[in-house]
Amino acid sequence: MPKASSFSRFTRGVRHTVRAFASTKHPVLVHIVPMRRCNLSCTYCNEYDKTSEPVPIDVMLKRIDKLAEFGSSVITISGGEPMMHPEIYDIIARIRRHGMIAGLISNGYFLSVCFKPTAFSLRRFGVPIYSGQKRRESV
Ligand code: SF4
Repeated sequence: MPKASSFSRFTRGVRHTVRAFASTKHPVLVHIVPMRRCNLSCTYCNEYDKTSEPVPIDVMLKRIDKLAEFGSSVITISGGEPMMHPEIYDIIARIRRHGMIAGLISNGYFLSVCFKPTAFSLRRFGVPIYSGQKRRESV
């Protein structure tokens, strides 16, 4: 998929925003969890386990197609640790193929090992940073 220019990303954002205001009959922002398992075990977290298998890719792709049919604008992928899903790039590519905005929330552990930023174009990439009581998120 060719890289989108800043202008085309801007116009796409405007288009999605206008659609969100024009109709409340479709989900605008959706979270999907393709992988509940996580490589870390943060003490405050109850959103992960150590045993779940990844959701099969055909199931994930059908769900993404259905969300596109509903008219969703933004799909954020989280977990668990979504980078542990063996077909995470296919999931992101399917979201992008539908013209939806893809986001990913990761603990960042696998970034240096297997992250391929050129393999897809994420609109948002979040690594939550926790320190004491304060929470910051880099996007
Ligand atoms: S990295 Fe995220 S999903 Fe994993 S245990 Fe910590 S908060 Fe939960």
